[in-house]
Amino acid sequence: EPVIEIDQLTKTYIMGQTKVHALRGVDLLINTNEYVALMGPSGSGKSTLMNLLGCLDTPTLGNYKLDGKDVSVMDDTELANIRNEKIGFVFQTFNLLPRQSTLDNVALPLVYAGVPRKEREARAHEVLASVGLGDRTDHKPNELSGGQRQRVAIARALVNRPAIILADEPTGNLDTKTSIEIMEIFEKIQADGNTVIIVTHEPDIAEHAHRIVRLRDGSVETDELNAEIRRAS
Ligand code: ADP
Ligand code: ADP
Repeated sequence: EPVIEIDQLTKTYIMGQTKVHALRGVDLLINTNEYVALMGPSGSGKSTLMNLLGCLDTPTLGNYKLDGKDVSVMDDTELANIRNEKIGFVFQTFNLLPRQSTLDNVALPLVYAGVPRKEREARAHEVLASVGLGDRTDHKPNELSGGQRQRVAIARALVNRPAIILADEPTGNLDTKTSIEIMEIFEKIQADGNTVIIVTHEPDIAEHAHRIVRLRDGSVETDELNAEIRRAS
């Protein structure tokens, strides 16, 4: 069933006297449990689309339904609420709190959600174990390798059981070997039933996804199953 329904999504930035057409009527349907890579050259609209998908911004025109809720009509408060409830973000730069332990970093979204401490800690433990960091709960971010930091960030994104995971260049700061480890983690969390959308420039990274959507100049240029899956079917 669809978790993302996008209909003629349009974003136009006004820059003084000029208009920048960042998205020019994008249609996209993404089902629960899909694993999608979003690609395209610099300036093609990837960040703009991710910001809209992540309920960080609203479209100029068009509709966006996330998990059945019409996001395109929401005000800032409603957007903040749906963001906390339904979206897990993973960033290139990890964005962890440096003074907090791994466990506290992962449990943070549950503080905002009003979950009691005992349950927060239990859920943070559980999700850290699922990304292979069950023995790193007391470490601070600077006591972890880059790949481990990104796994903490992935655990934090998962802890709220969001409808979608949005990852913007999640391997952009990692070496090749660590990038592959991170992509294997995303494969695992997709196999666990999550919906994953990643932005990447790297074809080798995109190949781990099941579906590749390419943007060009604010429009969807291609939208296809990745080659490996095409061969197998
Ligand atoms: P990508 O992530 O693929 O590099 P973006 O979504 O960042 O593409 O940008 C798409 C277009 O929109 C570009 O021409 C960019 O300059 C423009 N753009 C992005 N954000 C803004 C903004 N906040 N204000 C004005 N123009 C923007
Ligand atoms: P790599 O990047 O190959 O994982 P590191 O040297 O970054 O190797 O880390 C090796 C192990 O040591 C990691 O599991 C990490 O958790 C641990 N570690 C690294 N730095 C510290 C530190 N300052 N304090 C405690 N443990 C650390």
